[in-house]
Amino acid sequence: MAVVVAKFGGSSAADGIQIRKIKAIVDSDPGKRYIVVSAPGKRFSADSKVTDMLYLLKTQIDVSAPYEQVLQVVKERFLGLEADLGVDVGIADEFSVIEKKLKDGASADYLASRGEYLSAKVIAAFLGYEFVDTAGLVLFNEKGKFLHDETDAALGATLAKYERAVIPGFYGTTPDGNIKTFSRGGSDITGALVARAVKADVYENWTDVSGFLMADPRVIENPKAIKNLSYKELRELSYMGASVLHENAIYPARLAGIPINIRNTNLPDDPGTIISADDEVHGGQIVTGIAGNKDFIVIGIHKNMMSNEIGFIKLILSILEDYKIPIEHIPSGIDTVSLVIAKKYLDDKLDDLLEEFEKKLGADSIEIFENMSLIATVGHGMASVQGVAAKLFNSLTEAGVNIRMIDQGSSEMNIIVGVETKDFETAIRAIYDAFVAESS
Ligand code: ADP
Ligand code: ASP
Ligand code: MG
Repeated sequence: MAVVVAKFGGSSAADGIQIRKIKAIVDSDPGKRYIVVSAPGKRFSADSKVTDMLYLLKTQIDVSAPYEQVLQVVKERFLGLEADLGVDVGIADEFSVIEKKLKDGASADYLASRGEYLSAKVIAAFLGYEFVDTAGLVLFNEKGKFLHDETDAALGATLAKYERAVIPGFYGTTPDGNIKTFSRGGSDITGALVARAVKADVYENWTDVSGFLMADPRVIENPKAIKNLSYKELRELSYMGASVLHENAIYPARLAGIPINIRNTNLPDDPGTIISADDEVHGGQIVTGIAGNKDFIVIGIHKNMMSNEIGFIKLILSILEDYKIPIEHIPSGIDTVSLVIAKKYLDDKLDDLLEEFEKKLGADSIEIFENMSLIATVGHGMASVQGVAAKLFNSLTEAGVNIRMIDQGSSEMNIIVGVETKDFETAIRAIYDAFVAESS
């Protein structure tokens, strides 16, 4: 029988109603042996995620503000789950431990991890599965760097002892035993690690949408779902902001050749999206998906005969290195080069950086474009069809969007355009209409 690892995200673990859906899904397939869960997410749009409340708790403590109420709200959510689902996992006692640790100066990572820890305890009891903690199994070094192979060995050896288990997502431990979390959304990574460790046949990632959609549903109403996506396309889309799956969840699955199936807990019969190494072009489709990210700054540098000047780009990069500023893209022309940088890295450094450029580059002009967004249009089908770029640029021009920058990846499966953030939504809609709506 195929071994399935199923990860359920925050919305799937939000309350008793959702957790009953998890049980129905798990019970329908005996192959679903390893279940990875997130902390309870939002039950309705104005609700708070448990993880956000746990971080808030830490902030309250750090500024010596009252924290008892926040702690109480989180505790009541878990007590409510325990009562609703008719399980007893000792939530009250668990909170005594947490409160004691809080008083002893618990870290933000420890506190945040309790959301997943308690969620997994409750869901394990409700499913009748064993609870297996990831402390001591998902491993980081003393500097907080994640250890892939050590984790694979530790998880694999322990999980082999369990026929069925529920495993908390999001965190592991450093060698001193302290809890360390991945970045936000990191339960997706744990799911992929477990899938690799147990040599699963498929990694199911259950969320609140029927698969990876061709564009962000918050921008495009009812976008089409993608049936097949390659790991490479997924990586481009996730990196560029399609936030369905954490970008670091791809590597372990890809390494082990395990397909990822994105599914909808609320519509379990929908087939969702299959993500695999398969990079065939399906059904003549040109564009597979569109994703974008706001909050970039573009620095345009113009210098006559720049292309003849050996070491010019190297000089720019070394200045950026001195300022510890990572760079997203460097599209260049004969006499120009543009530096695309995430705004967060420039917040307090832009003026100094510009001064340094003025001093050292001898440029004819340096222009700053603030409030820029990047939009990636991705698809293996783009490489084999002529005129894709022209069609994309036309669609933007017709929609009245100014293109400030173009970067066509060497893989030919990706065209990135820089537009002003005020045009972000219009631009995504224009591209979607040109390539997707038109072809359906
Ligand atoms: P979970 O809590 O299950 O981990 P997430 O909130 O992390 O779920 O991811 C699912 C959400 O990702 C969707 O509800 C949707 O709003 C958002 N999203 C952004 N881009 C896309 C896309 N291209 N396809 C599907 N969902 C997307
Ligand atoms: N609960 C964590 C978060 O909200 C991890 C996750 O849900 O994947 O970021
Ligand atoms: Mg997520």
